[in-house]
Amino acid sequence: MNKSVLIIGSGFSSLAASCYLAKAGYSVTIYEKNSSIGGRARQLNMDGFKIDMGPTWYWMPDVFERFFSDFGKSPAEYYQLEKLNPAYRVFFGKNDHISIEDTLDKICVAFENEEVGSSTKLKKFIAQAQDNYNIAIKDLVYRPGVSPLELVTTATIKKVGQFFSTISKDVRQEFNNPKLISILEFPVLFLGAKPSNTPSFYSFMNYADFGLGTFHPKGGMYSVVKGIQQLTEELGVTIKTNQNVEKINIEDGQATSIIVNGNQVNADFILSSADYHHTESLLPTKYRQYSESYWKKKTFAPSALLFYVGFDKEIQNVDHHTLFFDVDFKKHSEEIYDNPKWPKEPLFYASFPSKTDENVAPKGKELGIFLIPLAPSLEDNLEIREVYFEKIVKRFESVTNQSIAKSVIFKESFCVNNFISDYNSYKGNAYGLANTLLQTAFLRPNLKSSKVKNLFFTGQLTVPGPGVPPALISGKLAAGLIEKSIKK
Ligand SMILES: Cc1cc2nc3c(=O)[nH]c(=O)nc-3n(C[C@H](O)[C@H](O)[C@H](O)COP(=O)(O)OP(=O)(O)OC[C@H]3O[C@@H](n4cnc5c(N)ncnc54)[C@H](O)[C@@H]3O)c2cc1C
Repeated sequence: MNKSVLIIGSGFSSLAASCYLAKAGYSVTIYEKNSSIGGRARQLNMDGFKIDMGPTWYWMPDVFERFFSDFGKSPAEYYQLEKLNPAYRVFFGKNDHISIEDTLDKICVAFENEEVGSSTKLKKFIAQAQDNYNIAIKDLVYRPGVSPLELVTTATIKKVGQFFSTISKDVRQEFNNPKLISILEFPVLFLGAKPSNTPSFYSFMNYADFGLGTFHPKGGMYSVVKGIQQLTEELGVTIKTNQNVEKINIEDGQATSIIVNGNQVNADFILSSADYHHTESLLPTKYRQYSESYWKKKTFAPSALLFYVGFDKEIQNVDHHTLFFDVDFKKHSEEIYDNPKWPKEPLFYASFPSKTDENVAPKGKELGIFLIPLAPSLEDNLEIREVYFEKIVKRFESVTNQSIAKSVIFKESFCVNNFISDYNSYKGNAYGLANTLLQTAFLRPNLKSSKVKNLFFTGQLTVPGPGVPPALISGKLAAGLIEKSIKK
């Protein structure tokens, strides 16, 4: 009989792992506590609007292609992808914005308009970022983080200096214009840490941004979840929703079963993509690898306050992705990382996917997703959320020259408390564990438990880190370790 693997959670990392394991001949069942799959990438359906609750930026298309090609497939067989132009728009104040278009040459023109001589510097910066991308994303992130030696290659030895400088320093060395500095610091926010704490080597995110571009799957990011779900079905994976895993049973250092909705289910292997801290809380204390103080000391990626809004009219002067950097970037990031509190004047991001995709909102209406990044574990209640909704709507109206408040058909919010209740998220983090220098590769929580023989972890709290592309890679790595453990 085939060996069985039980997977806890149905986020991107689980779905990916399940495909690799099923292809390798395991009998795979996913247990998801929520009523729908996708984890943080779930979809909310309201009044004919299809709303991505989490990820909205499709970056690093090569990682998705590599994932599907591992099964002899391509993304185009599962969903339709479009390169966005402009990729996004950044507001710095009223009537003051920069559009980031779909090629480096066009972006160079925008840079040159702001700072004479900056386009030559940008080309050099992006060439370096591309080199880092080729080393990091095409190679290093596909290593499972079991040994520091994985990071020592002839390519990384040449780059060692870039681990001791930061993105923030590098960008400021070359560029003087504060708007260009903010735009170049923006991509590393996806790694969950401040640019001033992110090593220069991570400029590979700038290549992902300006070199590869921003894509949109028709129907939204949830089309990618559905695409991978289709692949799981083709490979014979079973997915069960409304299944809350309450306990992992251990006998003689071996995980033997889980308790799910009060019932015992046996398995040869257990793989969890639920937040790492939560998964360990399902184990008897002596089988947990990391103490409460370990987790407390870690740098978590931010949480977020999100608003999912339906408008009864089309919204003007915005693009599919629009960033509001019309307040002090540095001050807000201090309020996330250094001195956690509700930000006085928050930066925010607004997505209007219905600008380019007729599938996500009824005709003549607009879908708006608003996101304010926040420190995890802040006090969260509906009154505070409302204060922030009013704050950003006022700024939005002033910066984009229109009124929107009266055009709201519905508004749903999602914040720290929802991240905890819906995903068992530690401190209500949205994006997992930040990718700082000391939380990279082998320095992150392990993919394989060091205390329970057949227990494995995947997802944004382990290797390689936060984001949809890393989640797909994480699933591949965890599946690979399970296969390897059987061959030993
Ligand atoms: C608001 C937001 C915006 C984002 N934007 C982007 C973006 O634009 N681009 C990008 O690339 N990435 C983005 N990300 C990050 C990306 O979505 C995540 O890194 C990725 O989806 C995480 O996948 P995962 O597999 O690690 O875990 P998750 O998606 O967290 O899945 C874990 C699953 O485990 C389930 N679970 C937990 N406990 C149990 C239990 N006891 N029993 C059963 N099931 C359980 C949860 O319900 C959940 O479904 C965003 C994330 C958020 C939250």
